[in-house]
Amino acid sequence: MYPSRFRYEAPRSLDEAIATLRDGGDYAKVLAGGQSLVPMMKLRFASPELLVDINNVPGLDYHRTDPDGTLRIGALCRHADLERSALLKSSQPTMAAAAPLIADPIVRTRGTLVGSLCHADPQGDWASVTLALGGFVVAQGPRGRRTIPLADFVTGPFETVLEPDEIAVEAVIPPVAGTRAGGYLKLERRVGDFATVGVAVALELSGDTVARAGIGLTGVGGSTIAATEAAAALTGQPLTSQTIEMAAGLAADASQPRTDHRGSAEYKRHMVRTFVTRILNQAGGSTGEGPTLLGGTAERAA
Ligand SMILES: Cc1cc2nc3c(=O)[nH]c(=O)nc-3n(C[C@H](O)[C@H](O)[C@H](O)COP(=O)(O)OP(=O)(O)OC[C@H]3O[C@@H](n4cnc5c(N)ncnc54)[C@H](O)[C@@H]3O)c2cc1C
Repeated sequence: MYPSRFRYEAPRSLDEAIATLRDGGDYAKVLAGGQSLVPMMKLRFASPELLVDINNVPGLDYHRTDPDGTLRIGALCRHADLERSALLKSSQPTMAAAAPLIADPIVRTRGTLVGSLCHADPQGDWASVTLALGGFVVAQGPRGRRTIPLADFVTGPFETVLEPDEIAVEAVIPPVAGTRAGGYLKLERRVGDFATVGVAVALELSGDTVARAGIGLTGVGGSTIAATEAAAALTGQPLTSQTIEMAAGLAADASQPRTDHRGSAEYKRHMVRTFVTRILNQAGGSTGEGPTLLGGTAERAA
C-alpha cells in the first residue's frame, strides 16, 4: 500500500524544526530513522499531513558521557552506533547486550534509540532497557526544554507525553556510584523479530550488595513494564539464590502477557522468570571480582 499524501520538510536547525512542527499542529510528525513511521504510513496506520525530517539537523548523532558519568544519546544516534560503541561495551552492560538484538542490520543502520522511545511500542527493546536504567528523555519545544523520566514519558501503547510541537532531543542515562552489572535477554521467533519476551536488568553493585536495581519487561503487557517490586526485593541485598528467586518470581508476577501466536501467557511468564534468574545469576557470579564491569548477557532464543 502507498502512504496518504503528505508534505515533507527537512529543516537544518532544531529551532527551524520546532517551528515547522508547530505550524503543522496535530497533523505533523517527526521523521528520524523512519523504521517505524514509514511502515506505519505504508499500512496507513499513520497518515501525517506533514513530515518534519530531522536528519539534516546537525549535532544530534552523538552518544557520550559527561564528566560525572551521565550518558547522553542524541536523537540521531542510530542503533548501529550503539551496537559498535566501545563506550557502551566498557560501561553499560545492559545497553551493550540489547543493541545487537534490535531488529536486523538494515533497520539498525537507520533506526534510533530516541525514535524507539518516542514510538512507544510495547515490544520495543530500548524502552525496557532505559526504564531499567532509570533513564530520561529530554524534549525541546517552543516553550523550552524539559526532562521527563521514562517511567512518565510512555503513557500507553504508542503514546507518550510529547506535545505535537516537541522534539525529543536526547535520552539520558544517569551515572552510578558503584559498579554496573546486568544484561538483556530476548526471546524471538527468528533473528530480527520483535520480542516474544524481553528482560532488561540493570544493577548498581556496591561490593556484594545491590545498591540499585531496575528491571524492565518487553512484550509482556500493553506497554513496557517496570518490575518495581522485583527491583525493590534486590535493593540493599546481596545476590543470593534466595534473593534471585524472589526477584524472578516478582518480575514474573508483574508481567501481563497474553496468549497469542508467539506463545501462551504461561510460557511467556515462565520466560520472564527464567531470564531474570539467568541475568542475576551471571551478575551474582561476578560480585567477588572487584570493580570489573560485567559483560552484558545477550541471547537470541529460537
Ligand atoms: C523489520 C523491522 C524490525 C524491527 N524490529 C525491532 C526490534 O526487534 N526491536 C525494536 O525495539 N524495534 C524494532 N523495530 C523498530 C525500529 O527499532 C525503529 O527504528 C524504532 O522503533 C524507531 O526509531 P526510528 O528512528 O526509526 O523512528 P521513526 O520511524 O522515524 O519514528 C517513530 C515514531 O517516533 C517519532 N519520533 C522519532 N524520533 C523522534 C524525536 N526525536 N522526537 C519526537 N518524535 C520522534 C516519530 O514521529 C514516529 O511517530 C523494527 C523495525 C522494522 C522495520
